[in-house]
Amino acid sequence: MPNAFFERIIENYQNRNEVVLTFGESAAFTGPEFLSLVSQSAEMLLEAGLNAGDRIAMEAGPNPTYIASVIGAIAAGGIVVPINPSATHPEVDYVFGDATPKFAIGNGEVFQSVASGRSYAAKTYQGVGSDLAVPSNCTLLSFEIAGVSSINSIENLCEIDSPCLIGYTSGTTGKPKGALLSLNNLYTSAKGLIKAWKWSNTDHLLHFLPLYHMHGLGVGVFASLVADSKITFLERFTEDLLFQSVEQKDISMIFGVPTIYERIARDDRLPSLAKLRLMVSGSAPLPTDLFDRIKDTLSEGPVERYGMTETVMNTSNPFAGERRAGKVGMALEGVSVKIAPDGEVLIKGGNVMLGYLGRPAANDEAFTSDGYFRTGDQGEVDEDGYLEIKGRKKDLIISGGFNVYPKEVEAEIRAYRGIREAAVVGRPSELWGEEVVAFVECSDSIDAVELIDFLRTRLSSYKLPKEVFIVETLPRNNLGKILYSKIREEYLN
Ligand code: AMP
Repeated sequence: MPNAFFERIIENYQNRNEVVLTFGESAAFTGPEFLSLVSQSAEMLLEAGLNAGDRIAMEAGPNPTYIASVIGAIAAGGIVVPINPSATHPEVDYVFGDATPKFAIGNGEVFQSVASGRSYAAKTYQGVGSDLAVPSNCTLLSFEIAGVSSINSIENLCEIDSPCLIGYTSGTTGKPKGALLSLNNLYTSAKGLIKAWKWSNTDHLLHFLPLYHMHGLGVGVFASLVADSKITFLERFTEDLLFQSVEQKDISMIFGVPTIYERIARDDRLPSLAKLRLMVSGSAPLPTDLFDRIKDTLSEGPVERYGMTETVMNTSNPFAGERRAGKVGMALEGVSVKIAPDGEVLIKGGNVMLGYLGRPAANDEAFTSDGYFRTGDQGEVDEDGYLEIKGRKKDLIISGGFNVYPKEVEAEIRAYRGIREAAVVGRPSELWGEEVVAFVECSDSIDAVELIDFLRTRLSSYKLPKEVFIVETLPRNNLGKILYSKIREEYLN
């Protein structure tokens, strides 16, 4: 049975005879060519023995084999498990062990080494065009794109409410869990974003985000396809590639994380981004001073949105109305946002995952009795309905009975000259339960005592850091998100 997502992408691309997907300098596909890749990958997987509900590990990279295989595998009823191409051997091995994929597609060294260690049968493999080398000993499916086959051959065996994607997420502690998402979860978010951002078939996204993550995959790829827009994938992010692409192509939108916006904002070429219709920031809080700096130059700041692996996208600042710095906006269509009495943000809607793979206890904990997903984020809604994320619940510091939100203290620290980035955590204290300590990355030499004096004029005493540590670099993940758990582990144990 066809489903709404596939009906929509077929309608969008079957007659679109211009290039819609471009992969750096290496490959480009028209709408019908892209659909052909999808249908061939679906057929190939079915021939190889894929049954509905089987999992397929895929090394996530900006290449046509990956993009076509994701959509093709889903069309064939499979469940895609995207793998971070820069993850370590133990990390990839853990995901293989947890998700037990029946197939694996990828040719990176770590990916292949894990797959061969787990005895996947090797098969010939040819990627799309010339983007992937024929791997050495362990390739798992053959995938040869020759000519354009009829789109009607897409084997649409996917039920829209069944799981189609597993996103691994670690939250702040513990081993990563696999969030089981249905196509309806992705489709709901896509439709909400298309409406909120007035996204259309005249848009062209310049894509440089990781493709194993919801921001890059769920929003960047799935929502673009539903919107009928064009995508140009960069091999990686560099300032030069970004500015050149925007100058040379009809790019209308970019999606980034705050660390990328910081790099963009420092570049002399920032004014040339005025031609973009939309810049979106997410995955981590966009500092208000950064939003203001971009707004001063471009007359509009990035639209900040809030989402997570388990719920794809939840809220966004308005595209047309006021984009409020430090806030993540209002619920997208189809999403309901509520704040629990303890301040936790709760989410319900078609975007919310089906549950964690094989973790009944975690699933019981993750939902309230009335079916809301507990995000683990602390939030507040202002008088105009804009949501503010105040930090992860687990990062909240309770000092002498008072709640201290790291984000608030960090914003004040960042206002001090010579500070590049700050992270505030709670250190166990006999007297206070927890006390505030700050870790700072500096662009200039600073005096910690003077910094605390400066903060004294701006923060109540219970929020003041008892100690400031100057560090070379703060631990971050690939998306630039500061890893608080790692800071605690490294410095406070
Ligand atoms: P992930 O599952 O890796 O996408 O991480 C989701 C988490 O990132 C959320 O629960 C939030 O803690 C954080 N996050 C995402 N977007 C924002 C945002 N715009 N502002 C603040 N935190 C965010």
